[in-house]
Amino acid sequence: MQETASTCPYCGVGCGVIIESEGAQITGVRGDPAHPANFGRLCTKGATLHRTASRSVTLQTRLLQPLHRARRGDTPQALSWDAALDLAAQRFADTIGRQGPDAVGFYVSGQLLTEDYYVFNKLARGLIGTNNIDSNSRLCMSSAVAGYKATLGADAPPACYDDLRHAQCLFIVGSNTAWAHPVLFRRIEDARAANPGLKLIVADPRRTDTAAMADLFLPLQPGSDVMLFNGMLHLMLWEGWIDAAFIAAHTTGFAALKALVRDCTPERVAQVCGIAQDDLVRAAQWFATGASGDPQRRGATLSLYCQGLNQSRSGTAKNAALINLHLACAQIGRPGAGPFSLTGQPNAMGGREVGALANLLGAHRDLANPQHRAEVAALWGLPSVPAQPGRSAVEMFQAAADGEIKALWIACTNPAQSMPDQATVRRALQRAEFVLLQEAFATSATAQYADLLLPASTWGEKTGTVTNSERRISRVRAAVPAPGQARHDWAIAVQFAHRLEALLRPGQRSLFPYDTADADLGAQSVWNEHRESTRGRDLDISGLSWALLESAGPQQWPYPAGATTGKARLYEDAVFATADGRARFAAHPWQPTAEQRDAHYPWSLNTGRLRDQWHGMTRTATLGRLFGHAAEPCVQMHPQDMARQRLRDGDLVQLSSRRGAIVLPVQADATLGLAQVFIAMHWGSEFLSGRAPGGEPLAGVNALCTAALCPTSKQPELKHAAVQLVRA
Ligand code: SF4
Repeated sequence: MQETASTCPYCGVGCGVIIESEGAQITGVRGDPAHPANFGRLCTKGATLHRTASRSVTLQTRLLQPLHRARRGDTPQALSWDAALDLAAQRFADTIGRQGPDAVGFYVSGQLLTEDYYVFNKLARGLIGTNNIDSNSRLCMSSAVAGYKATLGADAPPACYDDLRHAQCLFIVGSNTAWAHPVLFRRIEDARAANPGLKLIVADPRRTDTAAMADLFLPLQPGSDVMLFNGMLHLMLWEGWIDAAFIAAHTTGFAALKALVRDCTPERVAQVCGIAQDDLVRAAQWFATGASGDPQRRGATLSLYCQGLNQSRSGTAKNAALINLHLACAQIGRPGAGPFSLTGQPNAMGGREVGALANLLGAHRDLANPQHRAEVAALWGLPSVPAQPGRSAVEMFQAAADGEIKALWIACTNPAQSMPDQATVRRALQRAEFVLLQEAFATSATAQYADLLLPASTWGEKTGTVTNSERRISRVRAAVPAPGQARHDWAIAVQFAHRLEALLRPGQRSLFPYDTADADLGAQSVWNEHRESTRGRDLDISGLSWALLESAGPQQWPYPAGATTGKARLYEDAVFATADGRARFAAHPWQPTAEQRDAHYPWSLNTGRLRDQWHGMTRTATLGRLFGHAAEPCVQMHPQDMARQRLRDGDLVQLSSRRGAIVLPVQADATLGLAQVFIAMHWGSEFLSGRAPGGEPLAGVNALCTAALCPTSKQPELKHAAVQLVRA
C-alpha cells in the first residue's frame, strides 16, 4: 500500500488527508495528523473520499475521453486529444479573428488548483487579450474580496484558525459552520470546552445547528445584516464601547459612518431585523468588549462569516459594515480578534491570488490600475495586457445569451445547475457558437450543451497547490493515475495555448514554457512563476519554495524572501494595506433584498448547504451513505405556516419565483422563521427539476434565484428570492 499526503477537495477549511492506494485504486483516506488545518480530523465528506473516488465509481461517472458533437443535440463522438485540441484552437482563433478577443469567455472554478488558475488567467489575458475570465468564486467569495479591499486595503483575511483558541467572543453571521465547515466547527467546540466563558453569538435567518449552540441567537430577517451591524455601531457609540484612540490613530472615514448610523436606533434596528432590542444591546456589548462587558478590559472578538453575507446584492456593504465594527473597537490585529471570512470552495483563495476574477490581475493586482497592468505585462514579457474590463460570471452568460460572447470555455464547474436565473444561462449555452467543457465528471448538467468535452483529472490524480481560508498553502498530490485519457487542467490549457500561439502569433516565444509531460515538474514551474509575481505584494511568497512546502508542510502567506515562517495574523502593527496605512471605514446604508415579499410572492426563499453533500453532487451523489442525513430534496417551512396552509409533511407544493417553478414535497422545520422557506442548493436535475415561464427545463433551486448583483462585487443574490407556494 502506498500513502500520499494531500488536501481534501471539498471546502475552504483545507484539511490535510493521507490517501491510501494500491496501484490505480484509492483504497482509503484518513486525516493527516500533521496538517495544521485539521490535525487528523475529517468530516463525513472528507472521510469518504476514497469511496467516491474508487475505481468502480470513477469508471461509471467520469469523462474518460475527448468527445465532440458535430451538431447540438447529437450524441457526442470520441476523438483523439490532438484532434480535439486542434479543433478547439481553430474555433477560438476563428472567433477571435472575426469578432475580436472579447467574443470569447472563460468560466473557471474554485475547485481548480492554483496552477490551473494561473495558466487559464495567462491564456485569457496574456495570449488572447481578453479579461473575460471569471470563476464560480464570483458566486462564493467576491463580496468578501470587495469588503476586505474597501476597508483594509487588500484581499487578505487577517485572522487564522488558531484565533479560535484566543477569542472571548465569537460572532458567527451568515454561516452554518456546523454543516458547511464541520472540522472548523469542531475547533469552535474545543474552544468553548476550554473556555466556558467564551460567548457565542449567531445571527442567521435560520436556527441552524450552529445557532443551536449559541449563547445569543439573533434570528435576522433575510437581508437585514447591514442594519444589524450599523445598529450595533450606533449602540457602541452611544455607550462609549468604541476605541476612540485606535480610530484616531489608524483609520479614516469614521465621521461619515458616525453620521450614517445616527438613525440606526435600537427601535428601528429591532423592527427591520426582527430581533429583540435587549438582544441587540447584548450583542453590541459582547462584540465591542470581547464579552468582558467593560471596554477598559477588552477581550478579543472574532467574526466568522460566509455566504449569508456574500451572496447578496448588498454583499460588499455587509462585509464592510461588519469589518467597520472590528475597526471601531480595535478588534483586529491581536490574538483572537478580527474579521475572518470562511471560504466556501477549497481553492477560492488560490484563484483570487492569481487574478482569476474578471476585475483582478495576478498577485492581488487590480485590472483598473495602469501600473498593475504594466507590472503583469512585464512579468509575462508582453508589451501590455488588455485594459477593457472583463465580464463577471452573471454578466458573461448574459453577454453570451445576447450574442456578444460567441465561444465559451467552462472548466470544472456546472453553470447549468449552479448559476441564478438559469433560463438565461441555458439560452447563453444554446446561443454561443462554441461551448467547450473541461470536466472530470460526465454527469454535469452543462455537458449536454457542450460542443467539445475534454476529460480532466481530479482529486487523487492531480498535483499542485491550494490555499485555504487562513491563507495556508497546501500541496495537493497525485496518488493514482488519471483514468482513461483524462489530463490535468493546467496541462490541457497549455496544450491548447501552444496550438493557439501557432495560429495567432506564429514564430514567437511561447508564453507557456511548462513541461506537460511531467506533471510535478510542470506544476512546479507554473507555481514558481506565480511565486515570483507576488514579490513585494501583500501576499508575497517569494521566500516560500516548492522544496520548503515539501519539507516543512503547509505554510501561510505572506512568506517574503528572508522570512523563516508565514504570518499567522495580519495587521498586528495596525498598519493596513492602504496607501496611507490607515484602514478605511465604509459607510453603507442598509438596503432591503432585491426582491421583497408581496401579495403575489409572499414567501422568502433561502438556500444553503447540507452537511453531507457538496455543490452539484457530482462526487457526493455516488455514495448512498451520504444520503443518510438528507435523503431527498424538500421545501422546509415553519410548522405554523404549514398549519395555516393546511399542509402536512410530504405534501407536494409548487414553488414559483419570477424565473421558474419547481415541485417538491414540503417538510416542517421549526428552525425557520415565519414566511420563510428553505431548499438545499445541491439537488440537480436527477432530483429537482422544473420549468421556466417559457417552458424551458430548469434544474436545482438556484434556477429560481435572482441574478440581481452587488454593484461592487458583482456577486448575485442567491440567498433570497420572493416566491409563491401552492399545493401541487
Ligand atoms: Fe474536507 Fe471541509 Fe470536511 Fe475538512 S471540513 S474534511 S476540508 S469537507
